[in-house]
Formats: sequence, structure tokens, C-alpha cells
Amino acid sequence: MGSPEAKKCKHFKKLMSKRSRHGREKLINRYNVQMKHLQRTRPDQPTVTFFGATQSVSGSMHLLEVGPYRFLLDCGLHRGPRDEARALNSRFSFDPASIDAIFLSHAHMDHCGNIPNLVRQGFSGTIYCTHATRDLIEVMLQDSARIQERESSFRGYSRLGSSQLYNMDHVQEAIDYCHSVDFDETVVVNPSVNIRFIDSGHILGSAIIYISMRHQDRNYSVTFSGDLGRQGVPYLSQPSPLPAADLVICESTYGGKTHETLAGMAEKMSQLVTKTVARGGKVLIPAFSLGRTQLVLHYLRVWMASGILPRLPIYVDSPLAREIDLIHKKYHDYLEPEVTEIPCEWLMSDDDAWYRSTHRDPCILVASGGMCEGGRITQHLKYHIDDPRSTIILVSYQSPNSLGAQLLTPVPKVFFHGHTWNKWIEVAEVNGFSGHADKNDIDVLLRDALATTGQVRLVHGEIPQLMALTAQLQQMGFANVKAPHRNESVVLGAEVFQSR
Ligand SMILES: [Zn+2]
Repeated sequence: MGSPEAKKCKHFKKLMSKRSRHGREKLINRYNVQMKHLQRTRPDQPTVTFFGATQSVSGSMHLLEVGPYRFLLDCGLHRGPRDEARALNSRFSFDPASIDAIFLSHAHMDHCGNIPNLVRQGFSGTIYCTHATRDLIEVMLQDSARIQERESSFRGYSRLGSSQLYNMDHVQEAIDYCHSVDFDETVVVNPSVNIRFIDSGHILGSAIIYISMRHQDRNYSVTFSGDLGRQGVPYLSQPSPLPAADLVICESTYGGKTHETLAGMAEKMSQLVTKTVARGGKVLIPAFSLGRTQLVLHYLRVWMASGILPRLPIYVDSPLAREIDLIHKKYHDYLEPEVTEIPCEWLMSDDDAWYRSTHRDPCILVASGGMCEGGRITQHLKYHIDDPRSTIILVSYQSPNSLGAQLLTPVPKVFFHGHTWNKWIEVAEVNGFSGHADKNDIDVLLRDALATTGQVRLVHGEIPQLMALTAQLQQMGFANVKAPHRNESVVLGAEVFQSR
């Protein structure tokens, strides 16, 4: 085996032969940047630095450095107050051109949404993900670019606007860099690094990523959980147990909570829908277009078919969810069979949506905008917010400043779309539709890894959830569990904790 530089050159030549002229120019730039990086520093042991989803739930992004190689685990968008999110999303704490590859866990925007911006700023490596994730990020990132372009032109910017992170060209370039693989296939990234995607049961295509490395005659391993799905809510595959590793990076969104059971969700939905129908009202369900909408539709249809819910027309107002639905049909082997005898109708125009929303017959309207902050749900809310016959059922996490959180607060009025509205609609919450593992699920998924895991780092959780899960894992017997701050690094095979 030659030196790391020699290995790099060989790998580099292979990559060059596959690229267009533009791609080759970017690769040469990346090689030059990496050579500078090599001269500056070369960690003795593999290192992971946490750049996002640290003590928060958005912007998943961690940098793995192994000798001369640099890999990103996810490259997601931060959410939060506008200026803060813009500052965090627009710049990277490393040179994007120096990154060899992205190992992408799944297609939610807080995990993939900043990839085209990385491309725009010089990334030209390979994006490894599952086949379904590749298809899903194409529609998700295109939708994001469309929204950014619309907002930018609304503000009067002719070229790439100041608030715009990327455009359709950057999205297309990112998709061209994707190398999609099967679950459980061992993928040789380069002579020192292999990866494997393991079904995490969170959304279609979502994966736990297991990375094995050989560096200076020693083996190292990292398990990155991505987002973990729930057990006991069959629709997708059940999440797989996490493989033991020198470092396990684990999500903790609901690390201190227990979700409602499927039976509890069915009973609650039955009561809410039945009394709304009796009043002659409509049931509104705001849901994120990827993941939550498909899960909600599946169970509405299952429960209607089995008589738990009254049979009502189901209308879905989300053009993006329609595109995502077609991708789900392509990968139907990964999903529970569709309940075909209960149809749902896609509302494809504003006129259709207006007609169904204002027509007097009871129905269930599922619309985009899980926290009611945007999306199609706000139009329906305008028609029904002051209608005491109707019910809005929140099935997603509601961030503290969102309209969804305002709806849940027991006050008589809410403010949105420039008006104060009487809040006479019934507001209810059913939290069991979450796509995330709860504390009991995480216990089960991590238990097998206990004996041979080195360190555990908890990410993708608010502080109370991180604290609760840290205590739980320590009680289980994990010796080294911490929740890193942004920019903190952990060295594999060492207890050293350092800050950049
Ligand atoms: Zn997710």
C-alpha cells in the first residue's frame, strides 16, 4: 500500500476520468485545497467535528476526517429566526472544495437541504445515499430552489438574490454527483473507507450509516443514526438496531418522551373525526409533505377500511406530496400495501382547493405545512379558523414561535396573514404520528451495541431531550455519552475532547 497522498492520486485520477470539463476544473481545485490542508494538519486518528444539529434539531452536518480524506455526514438546513438561520446556512466552517464525499442519511431538508449551496461554493465530490433518497432529494431540493427563486424575484433580485442559497442549476449539479446504493451493500469509498446503509425506518430511503476505516494500521468505525423511525407503527420497515462502533452518533429528538400507541392514536382520531362530522364541520390536518403526509394518509385509510373512522372523502392539498407519492409507488416493496378501496383525491389547483375547502359537506383535508407556518394549510385555516364546527388536528412537532404553537395556546384569537382571527375552530394534537423513535425505541435499538461501543455522541435534540437520553444511556451502561456543542470535535479511539 502506498502513502495516503499516493492513494489519493489514484482515486483522483479515477474520478477525473468520469467528469465533464467543468467537473474536472472543480476536482483540480478540490485537489489543490486538500494538498494545502494536508500540509497544514493531519490528525493522527480519525476525528469527527459537529457543525449542526448540536443541542438543536436542525442543520444536521458532521465532518469526519480520516488522514487526508474529509467526509460530511449530512448537509442540512438550519431553521430558526431568519437572520440566524441565514448566517448559519450561507457559510461553512470548512472549505467546501476540500470535501471528498457526503454520506447522506435521508431526504428531509434538515439533513440534505444545504447540499446545493455546498456545490455552489466548490464541492465536487460524490454524494452517497440510497436509491429512494436520491429520487426524493431531487424533488425536495427542486422545490426548495423554486421557493427561494420565487422569494428572491418577489424582492426584486434579478440574479442569485442575497437571501437565496442556490438555484436549479446547483440542484441539478448536486443530483449529478449522487451515487445511489442498496441497503446493506458494502460500498468501497476509497482504499481506506467503506460504508454501509442500513434501513432506519424513519422515512422512505432513510438510513443508519456505518463507516469502517483503516488508518495507520488500525481499524476504526463510526455509526451515524441519521433519524431513527418508530417501532410498532407499521408502514415503513421497522428501524434496524444500531451497529456497535468506536463512535456512535445518535439522534435524540424524542430522547426523553414516549409516543402514543397506535391503538391510542386510532381512538383519539375516531373521537375527533366522529364529533366533527356530527357538527357538520371539516377536519384539517397540516402535515409535512415528506414522511408525515404519507403516514397520515395510510392510517386514515386503514382506519376507515376497518370501521374505526367514518368513511369520508379525503382531499390532499400539496403538489410536492403528490410528486413524493409517485416515488413511494416506485418503491412500494418497502411499504405496507396501500388500502386501495379508500381513495384520496389530490387537489392540483387553487380553484380545486378553494372549492373543497368551502363546500359544505364534511371531509378530511390534509394540507402541506406541518407547523402551519406556510404551505397550503394557511389558506384552509383562513376559511375555517372561526368555524366552531371544524377541527384542526396537529400531528407534527410545533416549534415555540410557530402558528401551530399559537393554535395550541388557550387564547381566543390568533394572528397570521396580517390579521387577527377569532380562534373558534377546535384544536387537537395527536403526537403518535411522529416519524422519530421515542426513548423506549432508542433503548431497544442501542441495546445490542452496548458491549462493544466506545463513545456515544447525542445530536438532533433539544437540551431537555439530550439530558434525558444521556441519563438513560448512562443507566444502560454506556460509559462515555455526551451532547457536543457546535464546532466541538471528538477523536476516535481517544477520550480527548477538543474545541475548534
Ligand atoms: Zn428526518
